[in-house]
Order: sequence, then structure tokens, then C-alpha cells
Amino acid sequence: MHHFAYRDGALFAEDVDLRRIADEVGTPVYVYSSATIERHYRVFAAAMAGIRPGQPAHVFYAMKANSNLGVLRTLASLGAGADTVSEGEIRKALAAGIPAERIVFSGVGKSEAELAFAVEAGIYQVNIETEGELDLLSKVAQARGRHQAAVFRVNPDIGAGGHAKITTGSSENKFGVSFEEVHRLYARAANLPGVRIAGLALHIGSQIREVEAFEQAYAKMRALVLALRAEGHGVERLDLGGGLGIPYDIPKDFDHGPGLIEAYAAMVARVTEGLDLALGFEPGRLIVGNAGILLARVLHLNPRPTKQFLVVDAGMNDLMRPAMYEAYHEIWPVAEPVPGDAGVAYDVVGPICETGDTFATARTLPALAPGDLIAFMTAGAYGASMSSTYNQRQLVPEVLVKGDRYAVTRPRQSYEELIGTDRLPPWLA
Ligand code: PLP
Repeated sequence: MHHFAYRDGALFAEDVDLRRIADEVGTPVYVYSSATIERHYRVFAAAMAGIRPGQPAHVFYAMKANSNLGVLRTLASLGAGADTVSEGEIRKALAAGIPAERIVFSGVGKSEAELAFAVEAGIYQVNIETEGELDLLSKVAQARGRHQAAVFRVNPDIGAGGHAKITTGSSENKFGVSFEEVHRLYARAANLPGVRIAGLALHIGSQIREVEAFEQAYAKMRALVLALRAEGHGVERLDLGGGLGIPYDIPKDFDHGPGLIEAYAAMVARVTEGLDLALGFEPGRLIVGNAGILLARVLHLNPRPTKQFLVVDAGMNDLMRPAMYEAYHEIWPVAEPVPGDAGVAYDVVGPICETGDTFATARTLPALAPGDLIAFMTAGAYGASMSSTYNQRQLVPEVLVKGDRYAVTRPRQSYEELIGTDRLPPWLA
């Protein structure tokens, strides 16, 4: 469920009229609902805590999905940790009030400087993906007199995910060490200074809606935990990654929350039965996906013999998912459609000079005119966090709604900021 709904003929985010935000902040603009974020986090965290009451079940929100400071602070205040993939993300998580002891550092290519920053900050765990990274972490931590907790991210060789570009758990993908290698690496790490291997991690992909794909991978992890323990290694932690998917083609009254989450929790309980592990979870999309919309205004109509283009002021630089993953987003007009309106089939496109800048083809919407507002639904995850200034467009602003209040949590970039970060070389100045 989410808190975007029609009221008196117009679309609201919680108790705020989206027309007001469009007028006061301008478009395009991302709008997030605090109540939706809070609900999803609470439902997920409670379900994971219920897997084995008394045993730790840490939720590390995968902040790549949405790294807006207001969103992070909202989650921090609920006790969320953070799954990070760069020094920038660690710094932002800390700035949002997520303590270092609730931060994990994932990612295939961590630099020495990034590992040094993470170790000095005292983070909970580094998820190691290569042997080289193990050696580097050992060196960096030893030089600082630290003993950094880490886990090996293992590649379970299970292909899953809503799109080839977001599948990460197959042996064909670049992520993690193989099942065969991990035994040797565990043994090697036992003799390395500065690092303590506490367990294992995996993350098989994103936008996965079938519990069976996770179960296959997790069952392999169970066998691996038992095998490593039989070899005399300590395995206390198991980080199960993120990846739970959400419906993008939602009927307006759909409540996606508990069904999949409960089935997932029951499966994790089954697969980890009797293992006595501290579990970790890294949900991203599930927490913020349908807690955000991208609000845009119609600029022009461009009728052609075979189709009708609707040109809006949001572009693929603001919301990359349709161009990058062929992703579907519902489009709701901000003025509530009149029941029975047959509508018009539009190709909804942005202003960027690429044909890929297409949000929807032949999408039936009520007849729209320049100046009308539309909302791209379910845009809270991998929306603003993937936005860019391509075509020298100002970085899209973000707004957080809480009840009847809203605040701009990332102002629209000024043209001075956009242009002023470049420097001329001395020979051209
Ligand atoms: N954990 C890791 C290591 C990831 O790479 C990702 C996404 O790519 C996530 C968690 C979050 O995935 P999702 O947003 O699908 O939950």
C-alpha cells in the first residue's frame, strides 16, 4: 500500500495536494511519502525480527535505492542500518544519523581509500567480494591497529531478477567469490592480521517476486555454513542481501506488503532452522519503491498520423528506469480521471535528444493538455538516486511529505551550480 490517493478530484501525497508542490517547487520533482516509507520499514523489520525472536535480524537499508538525506533520516529514526557501496554512501549514512555499527559496506570494487575510511569509521561489516580485497582490507585495518569484522559475499550461481541488468547471483555475473573458493579463502583469512571473518553474505538480484529463487540460493548457503563449520571455521553471521520485488502495475487499492514479506520470512525461518546465526537483510526497493512518485508537467502534444506523443518536462535523466531496464511505471494524471472517459493512447516522452527517452508507449490516459500534471508512480527506488544532469538539465529536486507538511529535501540545482563545477584548462582560459 501507499499514501498517494485522489481527494476532491486531485492526487494527494498524504495530506498534501500535489498541485501545490508543483506550483511551489516546480516540475519535474520527486515526492516521497514518509508514512509509506515508515510502514514498509516497520512491516519488513517486524517480520524479520519474528523469524527467530531473540536472535539478531539486522535490517541494512540498501541506500542506493534512494539516498535522499530526509529518507535516510526517516529510516535512521526507526532504527534502520544501511547497506552502502561507496565512501560517499557511508558518509551520507553517517550524516543521516545511522551509526557506524549499523553500516555494512558491499560492492565489487572497493578502493584502498574507501576501505580505510570504512575501517576508521568503525563500521559493522565489510562484505568482501575478491581475494585481493581480503588482502587489502587486512593491510588497511592492520595499519590502523583495527580488527575489522567482515563476511565473504558468495556467488550462489542462481540467476534471478526482474531484468538481465539487475541479476547478480549467477556465476556469469561479476559479483562475489565462488562456492569453491570460499573454503580456501576462509582458511587463509584465519591467518591474516586486521580482519575477522564473521560469516557469509549473498545478494542474488533485484525485483524478484518469487520466494523460490531466494530459497534455492539460501539453501545452498545453509549447506555452505554447515560445511565451513565442519572445517572448523566460525560462521556467526549470514547476510541474505536484498532483492524483494514490488508490483509496478498496481491496482489503486493493492496492498503488496505482507504477502510476499511473510512468505519470505517463513522461508528464511525454514532454511536457517537450527543454525544459530545473526541474520542481515539489505532491502532497498521494497522499502522506498512505491513511497515515491515523479511529478511532471505536460509541455506539448505532438500528433502524428499513427500516434500521439505527449511531451513532458521530465526526462530519462530524471527517471532512468524505463530507458535502462525497459521498466514499466504507471502514470496517473493529477486531476482525477472522470469515470467512463475512454481516454487517448499516448506515447509519453521526455525532452532528451534520444528516442530512448520514452516513458510509455500507447498508454491510455485521459485527454491531456499542456500544463496538466502527471505522476509517474512507484518511482521512489532507483529514481532520483540514478538521476543525472545529462543534456545539462538541472538535477531533479526531491520533496518529503509528512502528513500535511512537506519540505524540499534536495532543492533544484541552480544553473550556477550546474555550470560552475566545470573548470577551463589554463590554455583556454
Ligand atoms: N544489496 C546489494 C549488495 C545490492 O547490490 C542491492 C541492489 O543492487 C541491494 C542490496 C538492494 O536490492 P533491492 O533494492 O532490490 O532490494
